[in-house]
Amino acid sequence: MTVASGDWNHHDAGVMTQPQASSIFRFYAELNDFLKRERRGREFDAVFANPSSVKDTIEALGVPHTEVDLVLVNGKPRRFDDLLRGGERVSVYPVFERLDISELNRLRPRPLRTLRFVLDVHLGQLARRLRLLGLDVVYRNDLGDEEIVQIALAQKRTILTRDKGILKHRVVDRGHWMRATDPDAQAREVIEAFDLRGSCAPFTRCLECNGILADADPGGVVDRVPEQVARDFHHFRECRDCRRVYWPGSHYDRLRQRVAGLLELPPG
Ligand SMILES: [Zn+2]
Repeated sequence: MTVASGDWNHHDAGVMTQPQASSIFRFYAELNDFLKRERRGREFDAVFANPSSVKDTIEALGVPHTEVDLVLVNGKPRRFDDLLRGGERVSVYPVFERLDISELNRLRPRPLRTLRFVLDVHLGQLARRLRLLGLDVVYRNDLGDEEIVQIALAQKRTILTRDKGILKHRVVDRGHWMRATDPDAQAREVIEAFDLRGSCAPFTRCLECNGILADADPGGVVDRVPEQVARDFHHFRECRDCRRVYWPGSHYDRLRQRVAGLLELPPG
């Protein structure tokens, strides 16, 4: 008796009506985070309904297509809607910007871009940290999945979420599944993943509404700050959208330390 493979039970169940096929898969770099442990960092056989699209097959293995930048089938680049029919060798690569390619030559020049984000409802603490760094972040705790997807499409924003399901929406083309759970670690993860250290402009954005801060005439804001603040401070900034007033008060040093902590290079 030979030892059964992981797919033995599927063959044995006898309930499959659609023809089955299998191919050899290999996922690279952080795409392995989505795979079952025994499938990480190695080639493995996987069974799928024949035929299945590249996209459906990859997602059935647990990897949202938004995390994937390049799929090679038998060594040739293929599209998500190309079909697999069995017997292929499939190599799946993550979005290049997220590869650790510090020791490799870049395959293409870095595109000039301004990344903008829309965050899932559970990431409020992350939203404040990213706005503190000056990043453009839409966040509301009452958005549904459909609204988040629509905002992402309409405004060309990258979805950040802890929910892999939302990244599997067919229309979503930019997204990142957050590995970290601690808000500081999440902010560092975003900076690393999208290589944003040079794109941050701390203290330029409203933490509450994402509006841009502009210098404010002290005379125009004194009636909206505590009396002592109006006496002690002479430089104010004001959100262009919600009119909230900011000044470098006692919380400022703490926020500066937080910024420094979020932007520091990781050890090693
Ligand atoms: Zn505001």
